[in-house]
Amino acid sequence: MIEELYIIKRNGKREPFSADKIKNAIQKAFLSVNSFATKEVLTDILSRVQVHDGISVEEIQNQVEVSLMAERYYSVAKSYILYRQRHYEDREVKDKLNFLINYCNASNAATGSKYDANANVEKKNIATLIGELPKSNFIRLNRRMLCDRIKEMYGKELADKYIHLLNQHFIYKNDETSIANYCASITMYPWLLDGTKSIGGNSTRPKNLKSFCGGFVNMVFMVSSMLSGACATPEFLMYMDYFIRKDYGNDYFQHADKVVDLSSRQRSIDKVITDCFQQVIYSINQPSGARNYQSVFWNISYYDKYYFQSLFGEFRFPDGSVPTWESVSWLQKRFMRWFNEERTQAVLTFPVETMALLSKDGDIMDQEYADFTAEMYAAGHSFFTYVSDNADSLSSCCRLRNEIQDNGFSYTLGAGGVSTGSKSVLTINLNRCIQYEHRNNIPFLQFVEEVIDLMHKVQTAYNENLKYLQTQGMLPLFDSGYIAINRQYLTIGVNGLVEAAEYMGIPITDNDEYAKFVEDILGLIERYNKQYKTKELMFNCEMIPAENVGVKHAKWDREDGYKVPRDCYNSYFYVVEDENTNVIDKFRMHGKRYIEHLTGGSALHCNLEEHLSKEQYRHLLRVAAQEGCNYFTFNIPNTVCNDCGHIDKRYLHECPECHSQNLDYLTRVIGYMKRVSSFSQGRQEEAARRYYAKME
Ligand SMILES: [Zn+2]
Repeated sequence: MIEELYIIKRNGKREPFSADKIKNAIQKAFLSVNSFATKEVLTDILSRVQVHDGISVEEIQNQVEVSLMAERYYSVAKSYILYRQRHYEDREVKDKLNFLINYCNASNAATGSKYDANANVEKKNIATLIGELPKSNFIRLNRRMLCDRIKEMYGKELADKYIHLLNQHFIYKNDETSIANYCASITMYPWLLDGTKSIGGNSTRPKNLKSFCGGFVNMVFMVSSMLSGACATPEFLMYMDYFIRKDYGNDYFQHADKVVDLSSRQRSIDKVITDCFQQVIYSINQPSGARNYQSVFWNISYYDKYYFQSLFGEFRFPDGSVPTWESVSWLQKRFMRWFNEERTQAVLTFPVETMALLSKDGDIMDQEYADFTAEMYAAGHSFFTYVSDNADSLSSCCRLRNEIQDNGFSYTLGAGGVSTGSKSVLTINLNRCIQYEHRNNIPFLQFVEEVIDLMHKVQTAYNENLKYLQTQGMLPLFDSGYIAINRQYLTIGVNGLVEAAEYMGIPITDNDEYAKFVEDILGLIERYNKQYKTKELMFNCEMIPAENVGVKHAKWDREDGYKVPRDCYNSYFYVVEDENTNVIDKFRMHGKRYIEHLTGGSALHCNLEEHLSKEQYRHLLRVAAQEGCNYFTFNIPNTVCNDCGHIDKRYLHECPECHSQNLDYLTRVIGYMKRVSSFSQGRQEEAARRYYAKME
C-alpha cells in the first residue's frame, strides 16, 4: 500500500491512512468471539480491502465487513457489525449531547434551534429543549413514511428522486419536524353543539359568556396541539357577540356603560366585555405545554358588512337565532381598539388579525369600514387587510389565502366558508433550480417543471398518509367536523423567486420582463395545481414567509457556489432592502399582475419609518383596491424599553419615559410580531437590513 494515502474521517477531516487501525479493529473482533487472527489471516482479509485516496472511514468498514464474510469468518463479521452499530449509537448520543450544550449556549431559542428556528418561542428553557431534541428523529420518520408511500404509489425511482431533490436543496419540506398536518381555519360549530368531547376533551358546550371564554381558550389549545402551524377561528367575535347578547340582551352595545356587575367592582357591560378580551388574549399568548412552550399560533378575522353578509348570511345558531351585524360590528371595533391599547401594556403577539374588505370599482365598498380600517392603522395598530372584489376567498392565516369552496350553511358544521387551511407545504427553491438549469444548459423551466410535477406527486402521497391516519382515528379534528380533509389545500410554496430573476439579470421593478418571468413560473405551478386536482385533492401556490427557510436556502446555495444576492431570500415580489421601491410601487408589485397565480397567497409588508395619517392610509386602501393587491400590512417597528418596560407605537431611538437607549423593537419576523431579540441570528441580520420608507 502507498504511504501517502489520506482518508476522510466522519467529521470531514483528512487523516493519513493507517493499516494498523484496521488490523486492530479486526483483531478485536476475532478476540470478541474467543478466536485469534494470525498474520496470514489478517493479510488475506486486508488483501480484499481496496483503499484509495479520499476514501471514507465508512467505506473502509463496509469493505472489512464484506471481506470477513468472503473469508467465511461469519461470527467475527457479526461481532464486527454489532461493534460498528454500538459506535454509531454512541455517536448519535454524543451528537444529541453536543446539540444540548450548543442549545444552552445559544443567544436565544430561535438561534439555538437547528431545524426550524422560530421566534414564537420566547425563552429558552428545559421545556423548549425537550421540544428540540427529538426533531431530527421526526424528520427521519416523516421522510420514511412519505418515501414508503411514494414508492408504493409511483415506484422507488421517484422516492429516490424526492430524497435527492431534498438533499440538494431544490425543494424543502416545511414543518418536517412535526408529524401533524399544517394549519387550519376551523369552524367552531361542532364545539357549539357538543363542547370538546368529540376531540377528546371533557367540557360541555358553552352556555353563557363566561363558559364561552373559558371553553374557547381550552378548545384552541386542544386544536392547536393537533396542528403543526396556525389555528384560525374566523367566527370568534361573532360567537362572542352571540353569548354577550344572551347574557345582556340584543341591544347591549347601545348601553354598554350600564352597570351590570353588582359586586363591589360595579362593572359596566363594557368592562365585563373587555375583561373577557383580557382573559382570552392573555391566556392564548401563554407558552403552551403541548407545543413545547411555543404559544398557540392564533388568527382571527374582522369583516366589513358585505363580507359578513356573504359568509354568515345563512348562518343559524343552534337555537335557530341569527347573527346581528350591528352588534358584531360594534364588538369588532371594540376589540380592535382595546387590543391596540392593550399592546402598550404588554407584548401580545396573538391573535394575528385580518380585516376582510370587499372592493368595487377601485375602492372599498363599505365606506364605514374603510374609514375605520384607516383610522386603526393611523392609531398605530398593526394588522393585515385582505381586499377582494368577490367574497369568494378569505385569508385566514397571516397570509394564506383560500378559495371558499362552499359558502353554504349546515346545521352540523355551521358556515362552510370558514373551514379551510393547508394540510402540508412543500417549497421549491427557485433560485437554485433556475441557476441549475443555466449551468447545465437545460432549457428554461424544463427542470423546474420536472420538480413541480414531482412535488405534486409527493403531496398526493402525503395526502394518502393523512387519510391513513384518519382511518385509524388519529385525526379527531377531521372526524368531528372542525376541519374537512377535502377542504384543506396541499400547498406548493415558492421561495427565491426574486433572487432567480436577479440572477437572470431582470430588474426587480414593475416591468414587462419581470412580470412575464413571474407569470411563466407561477402560471406553470397553477397549471399543475389544476392538473392534479381531484375530488379529494386541492392544490394552491403560496409565496411562503420562509421564517427560517429563507435564511437556510441562501446559506446552502452560497455554499454550493450559486449566486446569492442576500443572506435571506425575500418573501415579497420586491427587494425588501431596496430604497428605490416606494410604497405605491410595492402595492403595484403585489398587485394583480404578479399575484394572479398565487392562489395560496402572499403578503405585502409595507415597512414604514413613521405612522401615516388616517387620510394617507385611506388613500392606500384605494391604491390596494385599484392595483388588486389583496393582502398587506404596515410595519412600523414599536419600541420597547429594556430598562423601564415602556412600549411605544413609534420607531424611536430613545425611550420617551426614561431616556434609555437600551431598546428592543417589536416588528413582524414574518406574519407575526415579536421582539427582534427573539428572532434567530439570521433573521435579526435580515431585519436590520429592511428598508423603512418615509411617505411624502
Ligand atoms: Zn424607558
